[in-house]
Amino acid sequence: MSRPLRLLILGGTSEASALVAALAPRRDITPVLSLAGRTRNPKPAAVATRIGGFGGVDGLRDYLVHERIDAIVDATHPFAERISANALEACANERRPLLVFTRAPWPQKDGDRWIEVEDIEAAVAALGIERRVVFLTQGRLQLAAFARAPQHRYIVRAIDRPDAFNALADAKLILARGPFALIDEERLMREEGVEYLVSKNSGGASTYAKIEAARRLGAKVVMLRRPEAPGAESVTGLDAALDWIEAHRPPP
Ligand code: NAP
Repeated sequence: MSRPLRLLILGGTSEASALVAALAPRRDITPVLSLAGRTRNPKPAAVATRIGGFGGVDGLRDYLVHERIDAIVDATHPFAERISANALEACANERRPLLVFTRAPWPQKDGDRWIEVEDIEAAVAALGIERRVVFLTQGRLQLAAFARAPQHRYIVRAIDRPDAFNALADAKLILARGPFALIDEERLMREEGVEYLVSKNSGGASTYAKIEAARRLGAKVVMLRRPEAPGAESVTGLDAALDWIEAHRPPP
């Protein structure tokens, strides 16, 4: 019998939660879930959890060594560029196997009215100079940029109250945690008179309903393109992630 595999899961996504749920009952794998600490009350996980940054690449390297981590699954959000780059570098330096467990981006479908943009400044510009009702779902860290376009009315949805919310002149805050059902997204967008939705192209099922609702209502979507994926081995399904973990057990 080989010893249990010590697996570090970089989380904060539904992929990480699904992996944790699949691994929690296993005795032959000892996972540690790592969260950045952005959400004030994260959902409790069924495995050991650490919260907070590692302290850059060097901090992550130290963590891998001191915690005797055998393998790492980077299941962070596709827009979490820094931690993924750090994981790639730390794993290369410490010769630890790394898997990126992610989701495919959403494709644009018939009836979608997307304006694809590279960054948040371009997203603000894409809303134009006329007053619009804009539903902001791109995340609270990029909220402040919209204060530079005070002509719009903003509907902001976030898990916790964003620090930059008060900087928006005309805005409504909705505190909620997904997943959201299509019927609710459609009702919300219709009641608020949403003309533009701002979203990252996150991919995955849990936040797709707003994209479908925008299509049904004829609303435009300002879609932030994904940053380039890190150059590590990557899978998009839970089974493939579990197969990879199986193949990286420590030798007996
Ligand atoms: P980021 O810009 O790539 O990372 C910034 C720093 O936060 C990293 O350098 C690292 O600090 C720390 N960090 C990030 N993820 C971590 C993790 N899972 N465990 C420990 N430290 C972590 O990340 P972000 O875009 O702010 O995202 C933060 C977290 O929220 C991620 O876990 C991500 O999965 C989740 N999330 C992000 C988005 C998004 O749109 N970006 C959406 C949903 C969920 P040190 O350098 O000190 O190690």
